[in-house]
This record gives sequence, C-alpha cells and structure tokens, in this order.
Amino acid sequence: MAHMIIAGKACQAISGQTLEVRSPVDGLVFEHIPRGDAKDIDAAVRAARAALSGEWGNLSATERGRLMMKLSFLVTEHAEELALLEARDTGKPMTTARNDMVVLARYFEFFGGAADKVHGEVIPFLNGYQVNLLREPLGVTAHIIPWNYPAQMMGRSIAPALAMGNAVVVKPAEDACLSCLRIAELALLAGFPAGALNIVSGIGEEAGAALANHPDINFISFTGSNEVGVLIQQAAAKHAVKCTLELGGKSPHLVFEDANLELAATTVVRGIIQNTGQTCTAGSRLLVQQSIYDRFVALVAEKFKQVRVGTPEMNLDCGPVVNPSQQQRVNRFIEQAKAAGYPVLAQGQIDPGVPAAGYYVTPTLFGHVPNDSPLAQQEVFGPVLAAMSFTDEAHAIALANGTDYGLLAAVWSENGGTQQRVAKALKCGQVFINSFGAGGGVELPFGGVKRSGHGREKGFLALEEMSTTKTVVQFHG
Ligand code: ADP
Repeated sequence: MAHMIIAGKACQAISGQTLEVRSPVDGLVFEHIPRGDAKDIDAAVRAARAALSGEWGNLSATERGRLMMKLSFLVTEHAEELALLEARDTGKPMTTARNDMVVLARYFEFFGGAADKVHGEVIPFLNGYQVNLLREPLGVTAHIIPWNYPAQMMGRSIAPALAMGNAVVVKPAEDACLSCLRIAELALLAGFPAGALNIVSGIGEEAGAALANHPDINFISFTGSNEVGVLIQQAAAKHAVKCTLELGGKSPHLVFEDANLELAATTVVRGIIQNTGQTCTAGSRLLVQQSIYDRFVALVAEKFKQVRVGTPEMNLDCGPVVNPSQQQRVNRFIEQAKAAGYPVLAQGQIDPGVPAAGYYVTPTLFGHVPNDSPLAQQEVFGPVLAAMSFTDEAHAIALANGTDYGLLAAVWSENGGTQQRVAKALKCGQVFINSFGAGGGVELPFGGVKRSGHGREKGFLALEEMSTTKTVVQFHG
C-alpha cells in the first residue's frame, strides 16, 4: 500500500479511505493509494507553512541546492525502480519510462544548481538612497500534477519552487501517482526537512479542489485539462494568488517544399506517437505545402505503418492509453473522422500479445483534414495525426494559428528567411526549426499562449515564476 508524505511522515488518509490503482496494461488492480481529502490537504498546507518558519526556511540557498542535488542522485540510483513503477502505472514502454527518470533527475540537478545563482539587484535611485531588490520565495506553493508524465511533471513543477525556498504541497493525479509518492519518500531520504515537500494523493474534485481553494496557499502550478484549468484560475482569483496553467495544445508541423523531407517525416511520426500521443506538446497537426503534399504524406504514412503498440515489457513504440475513458475518447475521434470521410492514410498495429482488457488504441494518420474539424481543433491526447495542405507561407501561418491553442510549433524548411518569418508569426510558446520536442528541455522556458495557458516553466524563467521581489529603499543621507 502506497502512502502520502505530510510533515516529514509517511501516512494514510485521515479518513482511512483508499483508491484502487489499475494498470492500463491489463486493466487489473495492482495497488492502492490513500484517498486524501480536504482534511489531509489542510494538514499538508499547515506543515508547509510551519516549514517556512522552521528548519527549511532557515536553510541557505546553497544548502537547498545541495539537498536537491542529493535528490537528483537518489533518483538516478532508484531510476529502474521508479521506471518500473511508472510503466506499470501509466502503461508506457520501458524505454520511455527510463528516459522520464533521466529527465526527472535532471530537473533536480538543473534547479538545484541554480538555487544559489539567482540573486537580487541594486537599483540606482536618488542621491542619498540605497535601493535593493530582494528575490524571495512566494511561500506555500500548490502543485497539481497530470497523469501523462507523473514523475517528470512533478519534477518540472516542484524543482524551481524548492530551489527558490518555497514549501510545496503536491496533489498528483489519481490515474497515475505511484512514482510521485515514491519521489516524496526519496526527498525525505535526501534529508529535506519536514514539511518542505508534502504530497497528498486523491481525487481531483476532492483533494485537488481542496488544495486549489485553500486560503493559505500562495501559488498554484497546474498542468491538465482546459476545463479544470479554468476552475484553478477561479480558485486562485478567490485568494488573489498567482497561478501558472499549462493546458495542452494542438501543435502544428509546417512542412515547406524545400524541407529535408526524410528528417521531417521521421520526426513528425515520433512527435505524435511519443507517450501514445498523451503529451501536451504532441505534434498533432501536419500542415504540408501543396506541391509536396502527396509525396510527403506518403513518406509519413510509410513510417506510420511501422508503429507498434504493446506492453511496457514489449517496449515497442506506444503503450496503452491511461484509462478506459481516454481509450473511448481517442476511438471516438477516430470514428468521427472516418465518418466524416477523411481518408485513413496509415494505421499502426497493436501487438496481438497484449492483454485483451488493456486500454489499447490504434495509431491513425488521417489525410485532407479540414482545419475547422474537431480532429484539427480539439486535443485528442492520443496517437492520431491530422494532415492537411497549404498553398503558401501566409496560408501556412493562418492554419497554424487557427486554433484556440498555442503551445508549440515546428517549421520545416531549409530557407533561413522562411524559418525566421514563420517563427515570428506563430502564436505559441515554443518554436522548433527543423526539429521537434526537446527530450525534456529542462533549460528551455516552456508554456503557452491563448487557451494553452499562461506562465512559464523550465529554465530560469521558472525561478522567476516561483518567487517574488521586495524593493527595499533606504535613506542614508
Ligand atoms: P485529464 O482530464 O487529462 O485527466 P485533469 O485536468 O482532469 O486532466 O487532471 C489533471 C490534474 O487535475 C489531476 O491531478 C486531477 O486530479 C486534478 N483535478 C481534476 N479536477 C480537479 C478540480 N476540480 N480541482 C483541482 N484539481 C483537479
């Protein structure tokens, strides 16, 4: 039985209630987690508040950084155990799960290293004055984590917060949180003082809502659906606290006729099947210049047909999706697109050896998808790629920007002018030129515009998000 960590102690929910954990691999219950609720959240927030005025709050930035480095080493030491847990919980192939743990360790390394390198400023002011701009922690920060990359997302969210000296309360996703609970244990082992890192497992509407609405938190970091993102922002507004929202995307590849087609095709396929399409940054729209459309989509289709779906141990390209409702959602998009008459250009294959009760879906590539269709506008969160053509640069940009989302985009062209003009015109938080995705990209500021959310994670900008400033004005004559 897994446990939560509150005030430096492993514990069950105060109510004693638990939730079953089913593996998407075979649909079977293989573990139980505490069903934390408002009472447990309150205990966690109190513990975090106490930590700020206790041992944790008194550590120097260097000491905080060292603890984070230690946690990074512990993650690396326990990487195989964590990867097995993550693979069982989410269904992802072992190679992906192992890579996730490399990125998790990197989050604690990067932000641990940065902890004592962020400093305030001295501001020139009137004669006779000294003005110092201090950079300080926000206080108690709340972190609501999604299920697609539980360990990575927890690292991404809490590492900059801890580096800046905040005390954190984590609410991982009920669908997959075992790695998160284990990371909190490892943090204790690393020597984090009681209350610096608290974690409460439970249901979104119970524990998640209780955390977001708690009157004594100072910040909310949320990654998840649009619907819940709106609730989080409303909760943050109630107590006038800041939040960052990362709400997914409908990220396009823009493939121009002068692109390196072989490289682009390989990357496009990888960019949609990664984590079985359950990635906020999935490249789910493929915009191809008309003059090369047939040739290029044929190349993509050839590669797409090679995609294999299996269990984590089979270690193929994709695993199952996380739960039955996600499976139904993906299949519904596929059926609707077929019914609408969009041609299926290629499908991957589910290995015949997978357990029948697992949540597997067939990766599918559709051609000639209109940009105003549900498949081109809505986030499927599955391995489904929608291809469409464009005539010229202006048309490509209009299509690319023509959704409510704005998270990521890729420009494929060998022409420097095209690359720069298009990158500047795209409305999104990251643009890749002749590449896509960054294998973690811990150093690279990340986040969306429009309905993809706001605020920046990763890189040094995350340290700014997770801290505040104080201007100290002194008259010395
Ligand atoms: P998905 O729809 O992809 O499962 P969600 O946005 O529902 O994504 O979940 C992301 C995270 O938000 C999870 O940790 C979940 O428990 C949490 N969550 C869900 N509903 C709420 C809510 N009403 N308030 C706060 N957190 C929530």
